Amino acid sequence: MENLIIFNARVVTPVGFSARRGGEMGKLRIIDNATVEVTDGTITYVGENRGENRDGYYHRYWHYNARGKCLLPGFVDSHTHFVFGGERAEEFSWRLKGESYMSIMQRGGGIVSTVKATRASNFVRLRSKAEGFLKQMSAMGVTTVEGKSGYGLDKETELLQLRVMRSLHNDEHKRVDIVSTFLGAHAVPPEYGGRTDEYVDYLIREVMPCVVQNDLAEFCDVFCEQGVFSIGQSRRLLLAAKEMGLALKLHADEIVPLGGAGLAAELSAVSADHLLHASDADIQAMADKGVVATLLPLTAFALKEPYARGREMIDAGCAVALATDLNPGSCFSGSIPLTFALACIYMKMSIEEAITALTLNGAAALNRAGSIGSIEVGKKGDMVVLNTDNYHFLPYYIGMNCVNTTIKEGVLYPTP
Ligand SMILES: [Zn+2]
Repeated sequence: MENLIIFNARVVTPVGFSARRGGEMGKLRIIDNATVEVTDGTITYVGENRGENRDGYYHRYWHYNARGKCLLPGFVDSHTHFVFGGERAEEFSWRLKGESYMSIMQRGGGIVSTVKATRASNFVRLRSKAEGFLKQMSAMGVTTVEGKSGYGLDKETELLQLRVMRSLHNDEHKRVDIVSTFLGAHAVPPEYGGRTDEYVDYLIREVMPCVVQNDLAEFCDVFCEQGVFSIGQSRRLLLAAKEMGLALKLHADEIVPLGGAGLAAELSAVSADHLLHASDADIQAMADKGVVATLLPLTAFALKEPYARGREMIDAGCAVALATDLNPGSCFSGSIPLTFALACIYMKMSIEEAITALTLNGAAALNRAGSIGSIEVGKKGDMVVLNTDNYHFLPYYIGMNCVNTTIKEGVLYPTP
């Protein structure tokens, strides 16, 4: 944590301490020739330029001249699976030849093959691989990331993944904060083949209590999908998680319209994610209940699926967040620049809405809209400096990085 004073910036930020919904998503505050002051890692001033030597006060601050550059809140990637063993490049080549994600999964590929590799790995190897992803994320402006377990599917390995994330979060040199999610219900492991209900019982009785007692996760998530976890099984698991004090997320309506988004509304989940096939009624229910709709356009792109209906969701009054879904199977990309481009080009979101979706609404999807996601007094000094004073470059500069420097709690990390 540092004291930092940024001068001459063009500040571009959503405003507020909760998710922005519907028409509010497109409203950004823009301040030209701005000063932003960060004291001990927290924003203590945002406004018109102040004199550099105010009362001799600023000699205790690092100075940064941001003339000709935009300053945005740090990006919040609120849905990833960045801790895993192995790769699935082979499987990717099968998909290129036309095989579907679900058919690969049914013949022992997919998540289960990453489970094998993760179980065969260890703390040090998983941690160093995950740390490599965090460095790349930081260079693209990410200051907070959510990470999920779900490649262990047994008590030992699920806890191992969560411990790797905790260790990375507690690292004093970290550039990215990590929010952990327990996703034991990511798939049914081979040893429970055909016994999904028993596996749900095992998660509730054996694994979840350990996760909670060791304070290893804030959220519980489930892959609610045809042939994986049904609506009934997902509801049972999530109600147990809620009882144990975890906040809720769902992988919902990704492959078929099963009604996961409606379940998210019923249970007041913090977010429902994917939503490629969410029904109109369920979208309205999410808007009414304030469930954040987290959209993952890189996954739709990689699977050649139709994009989620971001425009309609915003028009229905939803709070939409964007995230990358970085994972070794369906979407091996944590590209923030490409996420911006796809959201604006294919999901018909405005540039301003996409910025809100990757900052304040991403924070809201992690229950952190009160502390990150906008450049406002009292929030963490997590920010992104662009190479340009024109924030339209974010989607326009397709798939290429226009981040000059990432600022984490007042510490400057120039993009390599
Ligand atoms: Zn996911």
